[in-house]
Amino acid sequence: MKYYSTNKSVSEVSLKDAVTKGLADDKGLYMPERIEKLPDSFFENIHKLSFQEISFEVAKKFFGEDVPEADLKEIVYDTLNFDCPVVHVNDNIYSLELFHGPTLAFKDVGGRFMARLLGYFLKGNKEHVNVLVATSGDTGSAVANGFLGVDGIHVYVLYPKGKVSEIQEKQFTTLGQNITAIEIDGTFDDCQKLVKTAFLDKELKSSLTLTSANSINVARFLPQAFYYFNAYARLREKGVTEDIVVSVPSGNFGNLTAGLFAKQMGLPIKRFIAANNENDIVYNYLKTGNYEPRASVATIANAMDVGDPSNFARILDLYEHSHNAIKREMKGFRYSDAEIRDVVKEVYNKYAYLPDPHGATGYKALEEDLLDGEIGVFLETAHPAKFTETVEKIIGEGKVPLPDKLAEFMKGEKLSIPLSKEFDDFKAFLLTK
Ligand SMILES: *Cc1c(COP(=O)(O)O)cnc(C)c1O
Repeated sequence: MKYYSTNKSVSEVSLKDAVTKGLADDKGLYMPERIEKLPDSFFENIHKLSFQEISFEVAKKFFGEDVPEADLKEIVYDTLNFDCPVVHVNDNIYSLELFHGPTLAFKDVGGRFMARLLGYFLKGNKEHVNVLVATSGDTGSAVANGFLGVDGIHVYVLYPKGKVSEIQEKQFTTLGQNITAIEIDGTFDDCQKLVKTAFLDKELKSSLTLTSANSINVARFLPQAFYYFNAYARLREKGVTEDIVVSVPSGNFGNLTAGLFAKQMGLPIKRFIAANNENDIVYNYLKTGNYEPRASVATIANAMDVGDPSNFARILDLYEHSHNAIKREMKGFRYSDAEIRDVVKEVYNKYAYLPDPHGATGYKALEEDLLDGEIGVFLETAHPAKFTETVEKIIGEGKVPLPDKLAEFMKGEKLSIPLSKEFDDFKAFLLTK
């Protein structure tokens, strides 16, 4: 399968190149040249299949030409060593829980898959690849844990000193092995700038193989389609086969776009909801047809604080820039921090289900928008314990038990390398590697 750039001013590349480059040379995002449909028989029997079996069938449609079946199966099965169950919340609303992976957020799926696919492409190579990732908290942990122990790859996680929570920090500073955490005396934007500058630096590029692991990478993005199919299978087990509405708490829109891909592959989803916090760029686009990016504002659903969603380029490309076509597929909702707090509290008190601040936006939009006969599923993108401080301020202290996996991380010893925000320092550091 070839991959083209959404900017369409460079030639198509192989899967291996798309994965190792991340972004195309014309700064566009890579798209697969074809989105293949799965046969009707697959959907009729999907409820008899496990999450891993379903995902393997989906993965073959994307990666089957480029990765031998046995290797692909191993990558998929190894990535998904945890479940993404569908949990009933109230009458016609279900939660698709994507937080049962090692770092308790949906980014584990893409992070683990990308690590294994890149590892496969590098097998037998002398070449050593360095993955640089800037994080404001969650991405760093999913990527670091995904790549932990993968041969031939070293990960450098850059994070802003004093600006990530202790739980987040422990998830990428305690790992050791092929993971190095770098604590930058600056902001998240400084970290991101260091990474971007490194990719442009000729001297670094000639002496090191560098790649990025953010959500623009097709190997992180496409596997997110897997759990939409699983959601359908698990609903079918409960007798639901149609009128399914999926609500996605969105920031960079990688997650929702993967759902749109799933639908194009034949998955019977009636429509999508894009739930935003106060960073409502796509909400406004859906209303007006004008895409007006702006600086992000901080909210309590901070993983959705994005002012220029990178994957929006993929949505435009998928629907040939037709505002009408995009509007037919999805509806936008946006919520203030005060509204998000109310939802967390209400769902917890009324239904004994504790959503995290991101999932809460997805839930609320369903509650407002579902029609009679429709079944709603919201993506629960992270475990509420990842946001203990925020959530306990809403529902009361001591009410969010720390899952074993997080408790394990907390026991580890923080190891990180302090660096200034000056590029020369970072560059000198990388060149000693
Ligand atoms: C990253 C993230 C999101 C946003 O996902 P996108 O694919 O960027 O839209 C939502 N919730 C949580 C918890 C996240 O970590």
